[in-house]
Amino acid sequence: MVGAGVVGAAVARELARSGVSVTVLDRAASAGGTSAAGEGNLLVSDKGPGPELTLAFRSLTLWAGLRDSLAAELGPGFPAIEYEPKGGLVVATTETGATALHEFAARQRTAGIIAEPVTGRELEPDLTPDHTAALFYPQDAQVQPAIAAEALLASARQAGARVRQGVEVLGPLRRGDRLTGVRTTVGDLEADHVVVAAGPWSAEVADRLGVVLPVRPRRGTLLVTTRMRPRIRHKVYDADYVGAVGSDDAALQTSSVIESTAAGTVLIGSSRERRGFDERIEARVLSAIAAKALLLFPFLAGVAVMRAYGGFRPFVPDHLPVIGPDPRLPGLWHATGHEGAGIVLSAATGELIADLLLGREPHVPSEAFAVDRFL
Ligand SMILES: Cc1cc2nc3c(=O)[nH]c(=O)nc-3n(C[C@H](O)[C@H](O)[C@H](O)COP(=O)(O)OP(=O)(O)OC[C@H]3O[C@@H](n4cnc5c(N)ncnc54)[C@H](O)[C@@H]3O)c2cc1C
Repeated sequence: MVGAGVVGAAVARELARSGVSVTVLDRAASAGGTSAAGEGNLLVSDKGPGPELTLAFRSLTLWAGLRDSLAAELGPGFPAIEYEPKGGLVVATTETGATALHEFAARQRTAGIIAEPVTGRELEPDLTPDHTAALFYPQDAQVQPAIAAEALLASARQAGARVRQGVEVLGPLRRGDRLTGVRTTVGDLEADHVVVAAGPWSAEVADRLGVVLPVRPRRGTLLVTTRMRPRIRHKVYDADYVGAVGSDDAALQTSSVIESTAAGTVLIGSSRERRGFDERIEARVLSAIAAKALLLFPFLAGVAVMRAYGGFRPFVPDHLPVIGPDPRLPGLWHATGHEGAGIVLSAATGELIADLLLGREPHVPSEAFAVDRFL
């Protein structure tokens, strides 16, 4: 495994528990990349019918089971992953937005998503009265993403996986046309299969191994408030969020995604912008995010902000992850490109890679995620 983020951890866990000998390499610390730089929303509410939704549904089923199985495996000394099936509330604040939200929900219902019209304030008393539509999505949930990644990795270790931090993958080991391992900063490592789960850096790793992969970074920034008594009970986002998620625009886009955490802070996201690996946290982005959040929850205007942080979503032009073997280089696999849904999709991604690699009947169809679609 190249990459010890939530995706690499989920794949490593599934493979190790299936009896495969696994070594996870990360050039930095585990769960220190994108998986520690976002929110932990496990959403179906932002997805239309299609393969990503199928993967998300399977993942939600797996996450519901992981809450208890990880706790049982890791014991009381390991922090909880803070799985909360709290549901999502999607709110429109314009008439156009309300029409689009209802049309989107009608399509979602045909694929099994539950979207219930609500007045909004019965679920969130502090929500602005000036909204034009509100839908409740009871299937949405959340986890604490960095803890979830660490827990999956700890579970993988218990199943026999080795995790080596501070080891960077530099290039391929090849025998004829086949990839037989990787060159790293600590020497050569042989492997029957190499799975790249390097998040937004997956294109760089793929390039080092000898193939082109269209994964690019899509910047996202968040604000975090100081702790407060619980005033936001669900994950609440504005209906524009769905448009921003599906857009290919490289320019700055912001939409409100607001949720409280188990610690009592409130996460206020988020932005989307393609500007390479530019890490600056800019006031223009923060002010745009804050302004949209105040439209939904005016009381936030008087709340103290504790910090801001950001990361890089692994963006693929068709917004679908890349999961499976690479026919250009036998021995190479990809588990990447999950963009803004890598936390939720990681669980089913791990299962799918294990299914494909071990020749099991896949739990979800894999064709839409194949790397062949770019070739
Ligand atoms: C602001 C923001 C909000 C988000 N909110 C959500 C959300 O609510 N729900 C959701 O599902 N998703 C969300 N996401 C997306 C999610 O965080 C990502 O899709 C997910 O974390 C990707 O995980 P990963 O394991 O693929 O990548 P990463 O966590 O980035 O892990 C990749 C690892 O690869 C390592 N690596 C890179 N190059 C090398 C190399 N050459 N050799 C060895 N190791 C290497 C890196 O050090 C890194 O640790 C959000 C993202 C952002 C930025």
